[in-house]
Amino acid sequence: MSGTQFSQVNDEQQQQTHGWAAYDSSGVLSPFEFSRRANGENDITIKILYTGICHSDLHFVKNDFGITTYPVVPGHEIVGEVASIGPNVTKFKVGDKAGVGCWIGSCRSCENCTQDLENYCPRAVMTYNANGFQPDLPITYGGYSDKIVIDEHFAIVIPSNMPLEGTAPLLCAGITVYSPIMYYGLNRPNMHVGIVGLGGLGHVAVKFAKALGLKVAVISTSPNKREEAVARLGADAFLLSRDPQEMLAAKGTMDGIIDTVSGDHPIGPLVDLLKVNGKLICLGAPKTNPELPVFSLLMGRKQIGGSGAGGMKETQEMIEFAAKHKITADVEVIPMDYVNEAMDRLAKGDIKYRFVIDIGNTFTH
Ligand code: NAP
Ligand code: ZN
Ligand code: ZN
Repeated sequence: MSGTQFSQVNDEQQQQTHGWAAYDSSGVLSPFEFSRRANGENDITIKILYTGICHSDLHFVKNDFGITTYPVVPGHEIVGEVASIGPNVTKFKVGDKAGVGCWIGSCRSCENCTQDLENYCPRAVMTYNANGFQPDLPITYGGYSDKIVIDEHFAIVIPSNMPLEGTAPLLCAGITVYSPIMYYGLNRPNMHVGIVGLGGLGHVAVKFAKALGLKVAVISTSPNKREEAVARLGADAFLLSRDPQEMLAAKGTMDGIIDTVSGDHPIGPLVDLLKVNGKLICLGAPKTNPELPVFSLLMGRKQIGGSGAGGMKETQEMIEFAAKHKITADVEVIPMDYVNEAMDRLAKGDIKYRFVIDIGNTFTH
């Protein structure tokens, strides 16, 4: 790991931090005290104001992937105010608004890092539970806490006119959908794109896709989302994925599909919706890998890809695009002590469309 991420810190100046953690796979969260490192030369310390609840947080507190180290402090959709800066910091001054997403470090020198793809660095440090994928990395604690210390390279400048609570989810949900739309070339105006799963990721995907001039179909299991998907979020069509007639009518019509589904689901019916050369991009992380619809793929030269959040440069670009097009998430702001109820509701899909924790009013600083 590069010296710049955890640079020049004085252990005696460690910062007492108040957070909430889950202690076992029941996923129940309760208060947890820990220390953050002292603010290093290249670091900023952010007083956290809002943190979104991503479905990945739910996967991790429940140990869905079998890699959670308890206690786990989730949260990687973080916005707040810069409280202190190190002497080498150039991007921020005290009082600026800053955001943190899924990653707080990387090697800074590998093939991926040097192409602004820190998210694909083999040594990328996840904002929480970093040791999950790489056991030799330190345990990291996320944004369900009152402050975070981070090398400025991994912090995003939040334009001062953005509403912070609706911006927090963009740090994960926003970049996770923006990056594949751009990378896989699904951003050409009038392309027909399907968004599967109208949840936290899905609803911001609709907003980005419409801002890019795409024709958007929402593909959902929830008939009660039909009206507002079209009337309020601006989708051009709504397909009930459990209605074979509706799916058949849209067969072979889509250039691309962004699949944000968190639970187990078949992908064959989705691949059938693609045109020749169409692309299905998997973003959701279900427990069970879906079966590959080989014939539908080869009969239409179709592709299946994936994408994981995004690099720092592209995340900054996404935030600026969102600011320009006034894109924010639709949020339900909750106090910290509502988090367990919020997790239960998220598991049931009972949220339109993102819970955001009001961290700033929870802890006394
Ligand atoms: P979310 O808010 O819970 O939304 C997921 C949506 O998927 C639900 O609203 C529902 O939409 C649909 N859905 C859920 N279970 C389903 C099932 N069994 N079959 C069909 N549809 C189902 O979750 P999120 O925060 O958007 O996250 C979605 C997934 O992406 C999670 O697995 C998360 O871990 C993953 N993720 C990946 C990345 C990445 O870097 N690739 C980043 C962030 C999150 P409808 O009601 O419309 O059907
Ligand atoms: Zn996330
Ligand atoms: Zn690297």
